[in-house]
Amino acid sequence: MAAAVAPAVERAAAGIKNQAVLDFLRKPKMLLIGGKWTPAKSGKTFETINPANEEVLALVAEGGKADVDEAVKAARKAFEESRWPRLNPHQRARMLYKIAELIEQHADELAEIETLDNGKAVTQARAIDVAGAAETFRYYAGWCSKIYGETNPSDPSMFNYTLREPVGVCGQIIPWNFPLLMACWKIAPALACGNTVILKPAEQTPLSALRLGELAQEAGLPDGVLNIITGFGPGAGSSIAEHPEIDKVAFTGSTEVGRLILQASTGNLKRVSLELGGKSPNIIFTDADLGSAVPTAMMGVFYNTGQVCAAGTRIFVQQGKYDEFVDQLTKFSAGMTVGNPLDPATKMGPVVSKEQFDRVRNYVEIGKREGAKLTTGGEAAADRGYFIKPTIFADVNNNMRIAQEEIFGPVAAAIPFKDENDAVLQGNDTTYGLAAAVWTRDIARAHKVARALKAGTVWINTYGAIDPISPFGGYKQSGFGRELGKHSIELYTQIKSVYVKL
Ligand code: ADP
Repeated sequence: MAAAVAPAVERAAAGIKNQAVLDFLRKPKMLLIGGKWTPAKSGKTFETINPANEEVLALVAEGGKADVDEAVKAARKAFEESRWPRLNPHQRARMLYKIAELIEQHADELAEIETLDNGKAVTQARAIDVAGAAETFRYYAGWCSKIYGETNPSDPSMFNYTLREPVGVCGQIIPWNFPLLMACWKIAPALACGNTVILKPAEQTPLSALRLGELAQEAGLPDGVLNIITGFGPGAGSSIAEHPEIDKVAFTGSTEVGRLILQASTGNLKRVSLELGGKSPNIIFTDADLGSAVPTAMMGVFYNTGQVCAAGTRIFVQQGKYDEFVDQLTKFSAGMTVGNPLDPATKMGPVVSKEQFDRVRNYVEIGKREGAKLTTGGEAAADRGYFIKPTIFADVNNNMRIAQEEIFGPVAAAIPFKDENDAVLQGNDTTYGLAAAVWTRDIARAHKVARALKAGTVWINTYGAIDPISPFGGYKQSGFGRELGKHSIELYTQIKSVYVKL
């Protein structure tokens, strides 16, 4: 059996330098429940594909309702009976620091796993995803000992204080675009607050979360504190969303599925936080530093092959510089190195799946039919693998579908605008509100526009900066609740008011 599987792994993992990655790929991919790796109760598995060569990378346990039930039991037991929620905060912090250290020690290996499973450029996986994952654990390790209650100015006959306590058992459902980083954004703060977790990675990219589970065990995390259920949305995901014994669900993914999660949560009124889609405006005034705006706008939309919820997909350029800017965008895009994501020179790898490949190409056709001008790209970039050339549409009207619907691929829409008012009106004319950017040398205008934009994150003269110190989340249909910073601590705790008769 192993001999039959191995050649497929070698093919799927072609170009891999790290022996540890091959060793990991060859192992069976099981569910982590109560500290034990177990197959799905149904015995079913599913394939995860390397999008760069379309080979099957691994067979992964397909968790379903029965497995979620077991994971919930384990997480509940760990929450009620283990010391985890009541652990001395310094000890909990040490555990989180240890996970951060292990992520760093295994950084090259994790980056390669991420690249094989997701298709992202390995240099970016290493510098952004894995580095960010370790940083997130380290940041929240610091919070363990800084979660304060308050003493309140009560009547002298009473002493009143508040305790900030963990919410309980948390279900966390994450997408495929930043598999390891999203896992860490969710797990680290939940654990810092003393919760127990059931994580469901996306079916397209389950591998790095499984490796993270092993590292968490190596760090000494008690059994049942972190459970990992791989599987599909309907099945594993929906069972988490509707489970009566799960106290909170945190979800990152499409707005469509966010709605389903919210509906499913009503049974036991579980707490919900949703980080959903976006169609973010990147607004460039004629006085901006164009030398910096062009490459930054390009990375704002093509980074991670455009599979970023906060991608700056609507590039608004003020009339007067519009033609020149589009020209430069087109040249920049045409010169981008698209190719094998394991090659350190690669700037853009394939999209994650055949489904995504078809979806993006369909949007290119929609854009053409709507009358937008395709200035570069739009086609497949290789015979094998889900590669798509960086694509720019010019002369886009903000009402077009390519300007209103999230494509989640390397497709930018360049839209002209007249003045500040027009930029804000068009920028806000979307059902989403995740992020936005404004480029100008006029400091007052920069801050005025930042205030006027309805988005959870606004960048001025840059794009895409993200740091665990600062909240991230959406206005409008981009979701609610804020992750990162102290805001994740608020998501993963609840407050108890205690009155003492003196
Ligand atoms: P995308 O469209 O980008 O693939 P999705 O929103 O479909 O994103 O998926 C994000 C995550 O949500 C994945 O882990 C997926 O398995 C999960 N998911 C999909 N459908 C459901 C559902 N009905 N209930 C719970 N989770 C789901």
